[in-house]
Amino acid sequence: MSPGIKNGKAGTINIYGIILILIFNVSLSIIASGSSPKTNGKWVIVIDPGHGGRDSGAPGLISKEKDINLSIALKAAKYIRENIKDVSVVLTRDDDSTVDLLERPKIANRNNADLFISIHANGVKSKSVMGAETYVMGLAVNEENLEVAMKENEVILLEDDYSTKYEGFDPKSPESYIIFTLTQNVYQKQSIDLASKIQTQLTESVGRKDRGVKQAGFWVLYRTSMPSVLIETGFITNPTEEKYLNSADGQDYLASAIFRACRDYLDELSLRSGIKVEPSSTPSASSTSKSVSSGQNNITFMVQIAAATTKTEIKPDNFKGLTDVEEINTGERYRYVSGSFDDYSDAARHRKKIEAIFPDAFVIALKDNKILPLQQALEQKRKK
Ligand SMILES: [Zn+2]
Repeated sequence: MSPGIKNGKAGTINIYGIILILIFNVSLSIIASGSSPKTNGKWVIVIDPGHGGRDSGAPGLISKEKDINLSIALKAAKYIRENIKDVSVVLTRDDDSTVDLLERPKIANRNNADLFISIHANGVKSKSVMGAETYVMGLAVNEENLEVAMKENEVILLEDDYSTKYEGFDPKSPESYIIFTLTQNVYQKQSIDLASKIQTQLTESVGRKDRGVKQAGFWVLYRTSMPSVLIETGFITNPTEEKYLNSADGQDYLASAIFRACRDYLDELSLRSGIKVEPSSTPSASSTSKSVSSGQNNITFMVQIAAATTKTEIKPDNFKGLTDVEEINTGERYRYVSGSFDDYSDAARHRKKIEAIFPDAFVIALKDNKILPLQQALEQKRKK
């Protein structure tokens, strides 16, 4: 639950808009004090404003999706930077430039992000459809969800040589979407958790129509190696909603909802872990102090149970009774891991086994003493 003043329903603001925004800003600063985890390192949140440049996204009557996405993303980044301590926000674009779908998850992986949030607006033929929905990576359960993913992936077709770059993936062919089932999404639980928090904020605090948390195969979510979500903030094809999405107030409310969901997610992460969880501040692929036994060029899978910027003595008492904990030093952060496996599936089984005591545990891959994005590790294994 969020402390402070409950924000008004954004859908009803009009002449009271300015007053509400003032109250709202005050409530934000109240929320900010003393809520975020005390940390030495930094959380890294990557915000991805969908489309941009030559790709306008869904067209509305008075606006283009790419511009709405960018405005909300810039405002969300500002709220997060101002109100969550020790956070670094990286935007995949901060102007109207073209960024390939291939590049967006890479930016998140390179920055060793803790969260990836892609911001979009929806578009359909029917003008009456409205509401907000948040997606996580997965197989679409119905045609409607699949179509949303197809539309968002379509920009791939604008790229030269897309078939090679995207490994034969054709955004317009439903059969292509089967690739998303080939690798298990290890961050699904965390992604759903974040998505639920975003939907709660969008509907309960901001008053948007709730279309729920959904799954579909989005390229940008497929390639990230951290909890990742894609928000469809509303329908640009619904005239009322389009106006809202283009209004400064509407964008403020949507952006602040994203900020509050991130804050709640990070707060909970700190509380649930047995030891004090610290965010990462290290660049990706940092060297580790632990020498992984499996020799050169081999990939080892381990289950990360906690991370901290200060060293924790390795004894069962400090890790809820777990006896096989090892420390990996990645620059400024100590990661604590359990188990060491050649096969991903064995590591995934081990994660499942300790899930009850470490609900936020996840599988990491190490190669040559460096942490490798999981997706990449699985691919390299497959190619062998
Ligand atoms: Zn979009």
